[in-house]
Amino acid sequence: MSFVDYSIRVLRSRGYKVTRPRREVLDAVERAMAPVSPYDISRIVQQRGKHLDHVTIYRVLGLLCSLNLVHKVLSRGGFVKCDLLDEPGCHRFLVCRQCGVLQEFTDEALCYQESQIARRMGFHSEYHLTESSGLCHRCR
Ligand SMILES: [Zn+2]
Ligand SMILES: [Zn+2]
Ligand SMILES: [Zn+2]
Repeated sequence: MSFVDYSIRVLRSRGYKVTRPRREVLDAVERAMAPVSPYDISRIVQQRGKHLDHVTIYRVLGLLCSLNLVHKVLSRGGFVKCDLLDEPGCHRFLVCRQCGVLQEFTDEALCYQESQIARRMGFHSEYHLTESSGLCHRCR
């Protein structure tokens, strides 16, 4: 199943309508080869003869991130489609600082450990975000 088809299914199953802006943002993120900013998305949408304002794009991205369909790559300041889709757990990234390639992964043991650390500090963690910056196997 494609990323867009999968996302549409998730949206519907959570009671969200598949509106035109949501569909456009999903299409734009699917096509992108690298993390895209809301500005990039508005340009991609425009190239296809359509228009979405930035507020709408931000709002749609917020929803898609909350559903784990799209992630924000903090070190790149952009958004990417999820590569793991229905894989449970927290989705994390390895980011190559040279070529920009991203690898997404989950690790249950890592989650457990982070939750334990938080618990010792009286904190209940619900989601973990991790990005490792470094060099991918090709750039090393
Ligand atoms: Zn993911
Ligand atoms: Zn690299
Ligand atoms: Zn976690």
